[in-house]
Amino acid sequence: MTVTPAAASSTRTFTRMRLFTPGPVEIPARVLRALSQIPPHHRTEVFRATFQRVTNAMRELHRTEGEVFLLAASGTGAMEAAVTNLMSPGEKALAVVGGKFGERWKKLLEAYGVPHDAVDAEWGKAVDPALVEAALARDPSITTVFATHSETSTGAIHDVQAFAKITRAHGKRLVIDAITSLGVHPIPQDEWGIDVIVCGSQKGLMAPPGVASVSLAPWAAAAIERGLPRFYFDLRKARKSAPLGESAFTPAVSLVLALEEALTMIHEEGLDAAHARHRRLAHAMRAGGKAAGYSLFSSSPSHAVTAFVPPAGIDGGTVVKRLRDVHGMVVAGGQDHLKGKIFRVGHMGAYDLSDIVAMVSALEEIASVNGRPSAGAVDVARAAWDAA
Ligand SMILES: *Cc1c(COP(=O)(O)O)cnc(C)c1O
Repeated sequence: MTVTPAAASSTRTFTRMRLFTPGPVEIPARVLRALSQIPPHHRTEVFRATFQRVTNAMRELHRTEGEVFLLAASGTGAMEAAVTNLMSPGEKALAVVGGKFGERWKKLLEAYGVPHDAVDAEWGKAVDPALVEAALARDPSITTVFATHSETSTGAIHDVQAFAKITRAHGKRLVIDAITSLGVHPIPQDEWGIDVIVCGSQKGLMAPPGVASVSLAPWAAAAIERGLPRFYFDLRKARKSAPLGESAFTPAVSLVLALEEALTMIHEEGLDAAHARHRRLAHAMRAGGKAAGYSLFSSSPSHAVTAFVPPAGIDGGTVVKRLRDVHGMVVAGGQDHLKGKIFRVGHMGAYDLSDIVAMVSALEEIASVNGRPSAGAVDVARAAWDAA
């Protein structure tokens, strides 16, 4: 985004825009540098080695001994691949909704004509695992459950470990959208018993959009052998090319280079440390925002994104606009029926306490100019960081 010189506006306090969106997220300079390399041809030794390293780093991140397939697509491409590779004609699915991305599972199943039931929760609340249990008990013909870990539209985290206990007990498959949780929240795939996890590059993995992944637990290897009619996202083709260090079709070469650098950053920090940092970021953001007069929308808040309800009398859109125009901070508004009611602050990726301090201070300023002054929210945020 081009920013006009500070002199153009007496209220402007920034020289560059800062992304606090729940994806795409700010891309670290190291990752941008990797992106700017002259891309090698993809059928070369050098790129095959890169592709294999990235695939292995993704397996490490998923904590799986199984296969990870990288696709040239946004996250939804991986979701579509999961549906078309796992569901066979005549099989029935269960969609766990609870937000806009949970709804996407339902829409994908509808688009492919897959019979399905759905369980829901009021947006912002975590879906009760007992509903999943009841749905599977009610209809034994359901073969596969599709759910979301971190629901980006509401800022809620769902108890996918509990979902996995249930699906395992019933002998069903579980597919989890971890697009805003991988790298943010622990989600040890094999240990928890999650058959399939889908992810995208532009959220917790702090790379540009365009690489999606599907990871299959070792015991789920045969799950992609049947499936629905498919071509580009046929994971059997990906499986055939994988041992050669290749993808079935031209990979997003530059993005794979960028993703490698981002995964190296996570590896250097340590996955446990990255999880702990996200926990502290989220605690600081929630406590600071609350001290500035905003309330949490979700009763089960994710560490990737915080959804706030503005103080009474202030519209969510007003907050989004002033954050952008006066503070140079880009956040996301609410979607669908939550438009104007909430705004969402992303803090997944290479964010630190200073980012949260800046955001809390801006939120305090916005509440104040709208007649809701408060004081000390930044100190509250710092204390929450320390305590988390
Ligand atoms: C961003 C996101 C997606 C995928 O969106 P794309 O625009 O296709 O990358 C899916 N699920 C969740 C939870 C997300 O946050």
